[in-house]
Amino acid sequence: MQGKLQELKARLAEIADIDMANAVLGWDQNTWMPGGGAAARGRQSATLAKISQEKMTDPALGKLLDDLLPYAESLDPDSNDARFILVAKRDYDKVVKIPPEFIGRLYEHMADSYQAWAEARPKNDFAAVQGKLEKTLDLSRQFAEYFPGYEAIGDPLIDLSDYGMKTAEIRHIFAELRKELVPLVQAVTNQPLADDSCLKLYYAPEAQLAFGREVAAQIGYQFENGRLDQSPHPFTTRFSINDVRITTRIQEKDFNDSFFSIVHEAGHAMYEQGVDQSYEGTHLASGTSAGVHESQSRLWENLVGRSRGFWTHYYPIAQKHFPAQLGNVSLDTFYRAVNKVQRSLIRTDADELTYNLHVMIRFDLEMDLLEGKLAVKDLPDAWRERYRSDLGVASEDDRDGCMQDVHWYAGLIGGAFQGYTLGNIMSALFFNQAVRDNPQIPAEIEGGKFGTLYGWLREHIYRHGRKYTANEIVEKATGGPMVIDPYIAHLRGKYGELYELP
Ligand code: ZN
Repeated sequence: MQGKLQELKARLAEIADIDMANAVLGWDQNTWMPGGGAAARGRQSATLAKISQEKMTDPALGKLLDDLLPYAESLDPDSNDARFILVAKRDYDKVVKIPPEFIGRLYEHMADSYQAWAEARPKNDFAAVQGKLEKTLDLSRQFAEYFPGYEAIGDPLIDLSDYGMKTAEIRHIFAELRKELVPLVQAVTNQPLADDSCLKLYYAPEAQLAFGREVAAQIGYQFENGRLDQSPHPFTTRFSINDVRITTRIQEKDFNDSFFSIVHEAGHAMYEQGVDQSYEGTHLASGTSAGVHESQSRLWENLVGRSRGFWTHYYPIAQKHFPAQLGNVSLDTFYRAVNKVQRSLIRTDADELTYNLHVMIRFDLEMDLLEGKLAVKDLPDAWRERYRSDLGVASEDDRDGCMQDVHWYAGLIGGAFQGYTLGNIMSALFFNQAVRDNPQIPAEIEGGKFGTLYGWLREHIYRHGRKYTANEIVEKATGGPMVIDPYIAHLRGKYGELYELP
């Protein structure tokens, strides 16, 4: 069996090499590649993806996994080898269930749909994309049918990004969260708006980068195993456990955008940099789900980076970096500014408190679409109705309504949004547990020290990579299931104090 296990590792390491090489191409395309390189790059990426796909669906790999399965089941279920074989088997089974012919049709339609959306959105022309979206919905349902035996049609789609989470479970968690959030958002947005004019002054790009770089390094992002560049949309990418890169986008008249993007992406990257080195090249060597990944970016961005304690330490330093902009602004004003809450139409501009309402609207609507409870033609009105009831605002046009996110126009319908809010919920669960285990953490943050928190996250989350599912990680790290209470307590505590709510 050891020989077969070695062969499996060698085969998967080769696939990982091809995928990581493709990731380098993608990183370059989004950072430094000249525009003229686009056509060749698209072709090169597609070629590598095809080779990877062929190797991943090789029947010899399937045979190897079948041979190793009884061995994996004979091992301690928590051992690395058992988990490695089972996760590889799960990935293999998923890939081979989807016919290449379907993938071809899907990619062709996605390119067509994305193009139509890019043209129709500025013109606010939902009619031009309605047919495309109907076809995407068909394809999304067909995709689910390759995984018969599901409890809800959304489950196979959710599995793509948040493996093991079920539609029913997420619906239940989201319904509870919504019940708490809607009145809290209402109470906060009935108060006068926070003044964030100090964040909208001119901030020199070099100075923004220098400050962001300093903070990222201090919270635990390893620059010797990564780097920070600029791109139109911030992202994190990895080429190995020891090369995990982040990007940000600089806006000269917005302090928030770049700074919190850097902290957010550093959170994603610290997770990837912290995976157990012995997992390199295996299917365990990455974050376990979209939700757990987002819990790490949001923990550093919001629970740490937008806390009063964090700015108690960093505000005087920020004032030194930006004396003209912040020299005469009090810490209190600045803290309120970086935590400004407002009713808004656009998800990507939303604040910490209202963000989840945007996400839950999308999740509920996409599940209604999949389940046939909502027709695509009725989507624009259903969207407006939910925005009115949940956020108290609604867009007259569809450009800033159901056409604002690229997700449904360049990917399947279902499974792409829930991770954002699951991540927020888990961020508070993990942070709470870390503080329970190490009560000195809040005082350390006020002193600009993050080693204890980083160490706890590395021990309980980072190092495991994909060894455990999201629910297993939560259970092992906190001793209980995924619950919303710590997250609600965090929001109530923070915004209750900021807005002097009863
Ligand atoms: Zn993220």
